[in-house]
Amino acid sequence: MIFPVHHGENEKMYDVIIIGAGLVGLGTANALQEHNPRLRLLVLDKEKGVATHQSGHNSNVVHSGIYYTPGSLKARLAKQGNRTTYQFCQEHGLYYDRCGKVVVATQQKELPLLENIYQRGRQNGLEISRLSQAELKEREPYVNGLGAILVPDAGIVNYPEIAEKLAEIIQGKGGDIHCQQQVNAIHEHADYIEVHTSQARYQGKQLVNCAGLHSDRIAKLAGYETGMKIVPFRGEYYVLNSNKNYLVNHLIYPVPNPDFPFLGVHFTRMHNGKRDVGPNAVLAFKREGYRKTDFSLRDLTETLIYKGFWKIATRYFDEGMAEMRRSFSHKLFTDNARQLIPALQPEDITPGGSGVRAQALTAEGKLVDDFHFVVGRRSLHVCNAPSPAATASMEIGREIVRKYFSAL
Ligand SMILES: Cc1cc2nc3c(=O)[nH]c(=O)nc-3n(C[C@H](O)[C@H](O)[C@H](O)COP(=O)(O)OP(=O)(O)OC[C@H]3O[C@@H](n4cnc5c(N)ncnc54)[C@H](O)[C@@H]3O)c2cc1C
Repeated sequence: MIFPVHHGENEKMYDVIIIGAGLVGLGTANALQEHNPRLRLLVLDKEKGVATHQSGHNSNVVHSGIYYTPGSLKARLAKQGNRTTYQFCQEHGLYYDRCGKVVVATQQKELPLLENIYQRGRQNGLEISRLSQAELKEREPYVNGLGAILVPDAGIVNYPEIAEKLAEIIQGKGGDIHCQQQVNAIHEHADYIEVHTSQARYQGKQLVNCAGLHSDRIAKLAGYETGMKIVPFRGEYYVLNSNKNYLVNHLIYPVPNPDFPFLGVHFTRMHNGKRDVGPNAVLAFKREGYRKTDFSLRDLTETLIYKGFWKIATRYFDEGMAEMRRSFSHKLFTDNARQLIPALQPEDITPGGSGVRAQALTAEGKLVDDFHFVVGRRSLHVCNAPSPAATASMEIGREIVRKYFSAL
């Protein structure tokens, strides 16, 4: 796939310019073309190709929608997105494995939380079932559980492959995707919008900001205060040595802490035959900082001078420090994962990749839970699209079109 780099002035007046060639940006372009194939579309990204950040650094899980508040966008779009994602893979001959997942309570105190998740899942209209200890042992002989929920619709895909296919479809229908174009200025005029990168200038009638880890900054460039800031949380993975693959049959998840939007360290059967263990959730010192040593003075300063950050840091100090310690200690990380699979030994796992989550945080110190859009005059800003936004990406795009662009 060739992604042109554009230099100089582009005289074309686009109908919609989308910033960000992650899954949400591509899902939005795809939905706009479904809605009106004649629209002139442009997707801009600062990197060399598509899905370079969150969309290419995640667990590759197709979520079902079990955890999310009934009636929320996450609940609805994850459920629809689950079907859409499998259908898309089927239609285009891409890898998918609807292997199912188990959510496991390992301690007595987690059983009521597990029951809450079950009730939520039922309210969200999912086909899920409770598993007894014996039924869980049959499916996952090495998992330690007092009770579990089976979620048959959860599965695994290869999101970078999906993003490449979406890009191919968008370009095939006449949409432009220009990479290596870092947006650094946006001017909204009465009847058009102007987007500047270091190399080129573009004009469009509408703009959609799908810039993930930089979505708050792009909104600000366009002149909008969103009332929230992106705080980056790195998620680090280990890989299970392949001679221990037998320890994991499904996707195996713990009962998540209801105070956090993250799902806890889980075991994931991957598209490449490997088994991932992770991710944890540690504060990243750089928005696109994939290594522990990555640091950006600008990014960290912005986090540290943000009121909302200190509110949440004070409230969850112990949890945050425990995550940090686990991040630096192979043994502590293993101990955490061993709650699900007691047979796991530190030598069974080796450090793997990582991803950085774009989590919006309000000035009041609230981690924004649902997908969140801010509407401008000629622009729409996707200000919070954390997990399960990969699963839901094509449906997020359709929602954006239905709500904001149906007149195009
Ligand atoms: C560790 C981890 C595990 C996850 N696991 C799952 C999972 O299993 N299932 C699931 O459904 N979801 C998962 N998620 C969430 C999911 O990956 C994201 O919600 C989703 O990929 C968000 O897509 P996006 O397009 O909004 O962001 P991104 O993929 O980050 O794309 C944003 C794009 O904007 C571009 N950009 C930013 N600033 C500029 C600029 N100034 N100019 C031009 N371009 C710019 C970036 O280069 C980037 O390509 C996970 C996320 C992480 C980090």
